[in-house]
Amino acid sequence: MENCIFCKIIRQEAPADVVYETEELLAFKDISPKAPVHVLVVPKKHLTSLDDLSAEDLQLAGKLLLGIKEVAARLGVSGGYKVLTNCGRAAGQVVDHLHFHLLAGKQFDF
Ligand code: 5GP
Ligand code: ZN
Repeated sequence: MENCIFCKIIRQEAPADVVYETEELLAFKDISPKAPVHVLVVPKKHLTSLDDLSAEDLQLAGKLLLGIKEVAARLGVSGGYKVLTNCGRAAGQVVDHLHFHLLAGKQFDF
């Protein structure tokens, strides 16, 4: 996707503080963190949101979950983190590239 900011980060056309990378996934620090640990885990394949996921993405979906778990372990927050994804404007989605927020390091009231 030409103008997608996360695709630009994946193509290294925009900067990001990358914490984890595989052939299919990238994890980088959120530019406006809502918690001491706030990382975004994204597939390198451009999918707009969970609504865009299909049966052909079955393996990728599993790798995303395992990738989130791996990032949490590498950041030292296993057993104490929150994961969320916003799907659509009504839910607060701003960037239209599927991403999972990995949040840790504070008490959450949501
Ligand atoms: P959403 O509201 O779409 O679920 O979350 C988008 C997230 O992406 C926000 O937390 C926002 O701070 C983050 N974000 C937006 N643009 C950039 C960027 O260019 N770089 C990084 N690292 N994070 C971004
Ligand atoms: Zn994208």
